[in-house]
Amino acid sequence: MPATIYYDNDADLSLLKDKTIAILGYGSQGHAQAQNLRDSGCNVIIGQRPGSANYDLAVSHRFEPLTIEEATKRGDLVNILLPDEVQGDIYRNQIREQLSEGNILMCSHGFNVHFGQVEAPAGVDAVLVAPKGPGHLVRSEFEKGGGVPSLIALGAGASDESKKLGLAYAKGIGGTRGGVIETTFAEETETDLFGEQVVLCGGVSELVKVAFETLVEAGYQPEMAYFECMHELKLIVDLFYQGGLSYMRYSVSNTAEYGDYTRGPRIVTEETRQEMRKILKEIQTGEFARDWILENRAGAPAFKATRRLNRDHELEHVGKRLRSLMTWIDAKVVD
Ligand code: NDP
Ligand code: MG
Repeated sequence: MPATIYYDNDADLSLLKDKTIAILGYGSQGHAQAQNLRDSGCNVIIGQRPGSANYDLAVSHRFEPLTIEEATKRGDLVNILLPDEVQGDIYRNQIREQLSEGNILMCSHGFNVHFGQVEAPAGVDAVLVAPKGPGHLVRSEFEKGGGVPSLIALGAGASDESKKLGLAYAKGIGGTRGGVIETTFAEETETDLFGEQVVLCGGVSELVKVAFETLVEAGYQPEMAYFECMHELKLIVDLFYQGGLSYMRYSVSNTAEYGDYTRGPRIVTEETRQEMRKILKEIQTGEFARDWILENRAGAPAFKATRRLNRDHELEHVGKRLRSLMTWIDAKVVD
C-alpha cells in the first residue's frame, strides 16, 4: 500500500500559536528544528546543559537555554533531541517528572519509545517527527524556502488532536514542504536500524574495507586500492541519488555495467540475504536494542575499543594522507 504523505495544506501552523515548544538538546537536529520553528512564528525554548559548544551556539542564536527540567516544565510540546543512548536515563531523571497532562512528548527517532526506554506517562501522547536528513540540511533547505522530507508517527493511544499538532510541528520545521510520510514507531525504528546496519554504515564500510584489504594483500599499492574502493564510491552514490541504479549503469562504461551484473551477485549471495533476515529479526525482537542498551550501561567498553581499532586501519591512514592533497573535498579529520 502506498504511503500517506502530508503537505503544507494538510497542516495548520496556527494550532501552535499558544503553545510552547521545548527543544531538549541543541545538537544537529536541535539547532535546526528550533531555529526553523522560531522562524515559522512558534514559541521555542531550549533545554541544553551549560558548558558546551552547543550551549554557546544556542546563545549565539539568541536563545536563552534552560535546564532540561525547566524547559520540560514550561513546554507543551517537548521534543527530546538528545543522543539516543542517553535518552532513557535523562528521561527517567530529568524529564518524566516535569511532564504534565496534555503535553506532547516528541522525538526524531523512535528507538527509545519503541524499545520502552522512554514511556510517556498517562495523559501525555508520544509523537515522532523525524526529518530524513541531518540537522544542517534541515536548516539550510528551510532557509532556501524548501524542506527535508520527514516522517510522522503516533504513539499508542495518541489522539487526533496530537496528530494535528505533530503535523503543525512538521510544517514549522519545513517538513511538509518536502512531504511528511505517515509511519509507525515500529516501522521507523526498525527500518532505520536495518538500513544503517545492513547498508549505510555496516554493509558499505565492511565492503569497502575488505575490498581494500584484498587488493593490498595481493600486492597492489594502498593508494590505488583507496581510490578504487573508497574514493570513487561517492561518484557512484551521487548517480544513485540523482537517477537510481539505472542512471548509474547508464553513466558508467559497458564494461563496468557487465561486471556489475555478473559479479555483484557473487558478492552479495544467498548467504548474505539470510544474514540480512537474521539481522532484521534481531532488530524486531529487541535483541539488538538490548545489546546496545547493556553495552552503554557498562560504559561502552567494547564499542570504544572497536572504534579505536577501526580508526587505526591502514585504509584510514592512507585515506587521510590522500584527502589532505585534494583541497576541494573539504577533508575532515577525526582523532
Ligand atoms: P547530537 O549528538 O547532535 O546532539 C545531542 C545534544 O544532546 C547536544 O545538544 C548535547 O549537548 C546534548 N547531550 C548529549 N549528551 C548529553 C547528556 N548526557 N546530558 C545532557 N545533554 C546531552 O544529536 P542528534 O541531533 O544527532 O540526535 C538527536 C536525535 O535526533 C536522536 O534521536 C537522533 O536519532 C535523531 N536524528 C538525528 C539525525 C541526524 O542526522 N543527526 C537525523 C534524524 C534523526 P552537549 O553539547 O552538551 O553534549
Ligand atoms: Mg537514520
